[in-house]
Amino acid sequence: MHPNLKRDKCCECGQVFERENMIQLHGVPVCSRCKPILLQRLAEGVTDRPSIPTRRPIAIWVALSALLLTVGTSIVRRAMRLDWNNPLVEVKVAAEVIMLSVPIVFIFRGRGWARWVLVAYAVGGFCVSVPKLIQHQNVTSWLLGSGLKNAVVLTALIGLFLPSSTKWFRGEVNEAHS
Ligand SMILES: [Zn+2]
Repeated sequence: MHPNLKRDKCCECGQVFERENMIQLHGVPVCSRCKPILLQRLAEGVTDRPSIPTRRPIAIWVALSALLLTVGTSIVRRAMRLDWNNPLVEVKVAAEVIMLSVPIVFIFRGRGWARWVLVAYAVGGFCVSVPKLIQHQNVTSWLLGSGLKNAVVLTALIGLFLPSSTKWFRGEVNEAHS
């Protein structure tokens, strides 16, 4: 073995190549020939190889936790105020929970499009909250309520669109330490 020549086994075809001729896909070495095949399979959702460790950037974890925490609590808080004798209320709350969890689950699994679903929600939510701000007598209480929530959602979205996050969504995670 040449110690200077770093070699890796392609996770798709199993052949050994020099590392500089390979691509890191979700942190796993893939040869240039197999990369398009694997990328397409991943995009189609055909493969969910357990051998591919999806190392999520910290920004993804922070963004998703922040979203779950703020939006989740606001759903719960609103749900507690609702009249649960009305069967429609259950449907409404269930719909809200699904609307929130679908993009989060898909983002967690590395689907880039799911970020845009959240952008759409955020824009919609902001448009709804602005008239409330105008009606609000007390700007401070708005800032502590909706304003704070909007700020957290905005920060989370920025985190999801950071270059490192975008790279991860594209499956181009570079392994700095290995
Ligand atoms: Zn290969």
